[in-house]
Amino acid sequence: MTAFSSPANQRQRSRQINSDTHILLVEDEQDLLELLRYNLTREGFSVDTAMTGEDGLKKARELGKQLDMVLLDLMLPGIDGLEVCRTLKGRDHTSGIPVIMLTAKGEESDIVKGLEYGADDYITKPFSPRVLMARIQAVLRRSEGEARNENSSVIEIGSIQIDTERHEVLVKGEHVSLTATEFKLLSLLASKAGRVFTRQQIIETIHEGYAAVTDRSVDVQVVSLRRKLGEVGRNIETVRGVGYRFRD
Ligand code: CA
Repeated sequence: MTAFSSPANQRQRSRQINSDTHILLVEDEQDLLELLRYNLTREGFSVDTAMTGEDGLKKARELGKQLDMVLLDLMLPGIDGLEVCRTLKGRDHTSGIPVIMLTAKGEESDIVKGLEYGADDYITKPFSPRVLMARIQAVLRRSEGEARNENSSVIEIGSIQIDTERHEVLVKGEHVSLTATEFKLLSLLASKAGRVFTRQQIIETIHEGYAAVTDRSVDVQVVSLRRKLGEVGRNIETVRGVGYRFRD
């Protein structure tokens, strides 16, 4: 085994990535806040905390581009998490900071709203530290990848290649013929693999806001797209009560 791939070295490298990563944690439950702070710090992240939406917004404004991520509880006293998310994503200074919402079971309608305000992901309480870390790493990877791929017109994911300029899709090197709408749907989901899109977000993208399109028609498009993609169509997952995502 080479020194480069030894587990000790890999741990060191990931710790290095984490130590440059600055997370703002907004959570009003003291016990959970302390537990999360402990786990994030132990993983090497640099952590700031806030217990109210007001304080969270204030700290996000102060830290600005130094922040790499916000972990945001939705149920907060005063300004709630949804409003915090909407404000963060609505301001130039903070709109690029990834947001992961911390939600309770049964808050699907809030999750949908949060995603529509621009949140990048969500995790449902109770969750294990291990699952949270995996989610954080996935969102960080995604936001780095997006910055890197901004100028490329080809999305490559697993055995699918999508050329957004030439409107071509290849699966394992074979052409797949899609309608314009199916193509837009696939491009949207695959451009941010792992991210959940609500039906409303999908409608706005694929029909450019055409109001007569219903949620049901999105479901119909998804069924048709999955069928045309064959085996890899299974990567398009239904997220119950929320929307669709392309598996990471
Ligand atoms: Ca709370």
